[in-house]
Amino acid sequence: MADKIKVALNGYGTIGKRVADAVMRQDDMTLVGIAKTKPDYEAYVAAKKGYAIYAVDPAKAESKFKAAGLSIAGSNEEMIKKADIIVDCAPEGIGEENKKLYEKLKKPAMFQGGEEHEVAGVSFNAAANYDQAIGKQFVRVVSCNTTGLCRLLYALDKGFGIKKVRATMMRRGGDPNDIKRGPINAIVPDPIHLPSHHGPDVNTVMPHIKIDTVAVKLPTTLMHMHYVNMNLNKVPSREDVIATLKQYPRIWLIPPWLNIKSTADVIEFGRELGRPRNDMMENVIWEESIAVDKEGELNLFQAIHQESDVIPENIDCIRAMTGIEKDGKKSMEKTNKTMGLGNFNPWKLTL
Ligand code: NAD
Repeated sequence: MADKIKVALNGYGTIGKRVADAVMRQDDMTLVGIAKTKPDYEAYVAAKKGYAIYAVDPAKAESKFKAAGLSIAGSNEEMIKKADIIVDCAPEGIGEENKKLYEKLKKPAMFQGGEEHEVAGVSFNAAANYDQAIGKQFVRVVSCNTTGLCRLLYALDKGFGIKKVRATMMRRGGDPNDIKRGPINAIVPDPIHLPSHHGPDVNTVMPHIKIDTVAVKLPTTLMHMHYVNMNLNKVPSREDVIATLKQYPRIWLIPPWLNIKSTADVIEFGRELGRPRNDMMENVIWEESIAVDKEGELNLFQAIHQESDVIPENIDCIRAMTGIEKDGKKSMEKTNKTMGLGNFNPWKLTL
């Protein structure tokens, strides 16, 4: 095999720490290190895992890391110089700032969904537009909600052709460790001005899809829930839709007998399966919710685990940008295998 791709993680929070662990599972990639702004429990675990820790601002951070007993390998600039590609997982808006550093050092970098499409110029979903990322210097992996929508819409558009989509995003207020965000006791239309940005964001990946979206924020931290309605060009049976979705390993159809009634059950299922951090990286669609009428109008519910659904897409994006795998299907197969993702067949799961 060719030399392993050297990956650096600039920003090590909810998304960054998961991407770092996923890189470690690949035989064609190696982790140069992770960059942290300060020592904390995440830095402690990273050190225990043997990841080299670089400081985002060493002048400010060095003494703090020393006092905590954590050694740092250098500055994040030094880390970036050693890498073939940088996965930027800094907070929303900071990626755009960091881009100046990647440009200065002439390094390819991936951004996350908190950045605007224009920061990278290419927005990515593995199934929908892998080829567009091949050889690019900057690519953005779209947000958790947009990734969930793109996977579903790609499958159904390919299967039956989509005339028009209307989707409602019932969004988690914050991540489980995100104590500053809310709401605690309200339902917040966000944005109030309609439609929401999620539709245009889908169009950065699949420009031809006609889509209107709305979003509300809810007092929950576990997952997002999407209600998706669409009109299809062909008129499939419900069984046709199920058979089509089953072809995509990053889409799980939950059968009624599992008695999964809520996002809480989905996450509990992840815990029971012994998934790392209880991550449910696939779109979780309630098979029972799928309904198609005689005119080809389809309705369904899907749950999206915001902390983890973008992780396999980040791994595929590394392969596309560096060109180590030019076939998107092969990259996805490899990622699915190494991450334990697959069509949901409860009898094939290993515990
Ligand atoms: P986070 O706040 O959990 O982690 C960000 C980390 O970056 C923190 O550890 C922070 O200290 C560090 N950081 C701050 N300034 C930095 C800098 N200048 N350079 C490097 N690191 C810096 O954020 P997150 O939830 O992981 O989000 C990261 C990106 O992923 C955002 O664009 C976000 O919109 C996107 N995203 C988040 C989710 C989610 O649900 N959390 C889902 C999909 C995409």
